Amino acid sequence: MKSLAVLHASQLVTLAGPKRARVGSELSELAIIHDGGMLIRDGAIVATGASAEIEKQARGAEILDAAGRLVLPGFVDAHTHLVFAGKRLDDFERRARGETYEQIASAGGGIWSTVEKTRAATEDDLFAQSKTHAGWFLQGGTTTVEAKSGYGLTLEDELKILRVIRRLTLETPLECVPTFLGAHAVPREHKAPEYLDLVVNEMLPRIVAEKLAEFCDVFYERGYFDLEQSRKVLNAAGQRGLKLRAHVDQLTNSGGAKLAAELRTTTADHLEKTDTEGVKALKSAGVQPVLLPGSVYALGSTAYPRAREMIEAGLALVIATDFNPGSSPTPSMSMVLSLACTQMKMSPAEAITASTINAAYSLNRGDKIGSLEAGKTANFAIFDCEDYRELAYWFGLSQTHAVYAGGQCVFQA
Ligand SMILES: [Zn+2]
Repeated sequence: MKSLAVLHASQLVTLAGPKRARVGSELSELAIIHDGGMLIRDGAIVATGASAEIEKQARGAEILDAAGRLVLPGFVDAHTHLVFAGKRLDDFERRARGETYEQIASAGGGIWSTVEKTRAATEDDLFAQSKTHAGWFLQGGTTTVEAKSGYGLTLEDELKILRVIRRLTLETPLECVPTFLGAHAVPREHKAPEYLDLVVNEMLPRIVAEKLAEFCDVFYERGYFDLEQSRKVLNAAGQRGLKLRAHVDQLTNSGGAKLAAELRTTTADHLEKTDTEGVKALKSAGVQPVLLPGSVYALGSTAYPRAREMIEAGLALVIATDFNPGSSPTPSMSMVLSLACTQMKMSPAEAITASTINAAYSLNRGDKIGSLEAGKTANFAIFDCEDYRELAYWFGLSQTHAVYAGGQCVFQA
């Protein structure tokens, strides 16, 4: 048995607590151990406590001296579009010049340009680029991500993306939770109804049969999929045993939160335009909101979702990067923490809970990751600072010192 003892963390931020997602004032409770230590055996956490106590149990263990640095659970990023080909630099520049999303799309940019590049890429090319993205997440202290398909929009290309997601989990240290987002956009070669038939009758059965996805997602938005179409995709996926997530109320308040509540999706994501009624609906159905401030920032908008109202309503809030080539090209959870605090008025502690333990529960993995507690996988990050608030405070600075997944070092600054 291989043992590792982490000693002398200025703060060991354990997030130990109830075995469920945290709500209300619980979001502020990080269960910090000062001068903390952690004993790891065979990739799993055996004990956490004061360094002096852990040292006594550490006979024969390899010692990892955190030397007064901050130690946190690996971040869990519950909303990413990690697998795609190419970049959208022209879109970025056009947006800087003040062009709108519609203008950019009609000039050949937008989701469609990424679909074309992703379709043209071989599975190996796509894997190579995605592996680079995976390395960026690890570098920022993220050890688990949710990863969506949705830039293929044909049966073969959606399968290709989902197989790349599976390979990332098998061949890199980043754990990827796969989500099928065939209903991301209507491809140019189809009208919406016939494309939906393809999603429901051909893609879903094949993906479920090959066990390529745990969740199904839909982009419910004007110009993408309407209420009936979104309900149809999610119902079909639910009947086939997939859990559900949904992109809702991003650009318009179209009752997306209510749809998520009606279908009891695990999460409702974006919610920039969700109102008080929508918040109440999410609460009554136990749906977890996933807020994506990086995409609001990168689009140059100021319409951030109402995080405070959601926390006060008792929702088990999650924050994530929405990593994608168009509206949120950042893998950095530190950046998201900063935006959560400065733009959504969350406290640094709330932001950390929302990006670790609550995110883990939203991915059905709350019993394995998201906190530093005995029995959990030893996924953790060591940062070159002393206080957890520094992660959100020094924005734009990488403070990662080292990252461990399953007790193994996967990144060292
Ligand atoms: Zn998204």
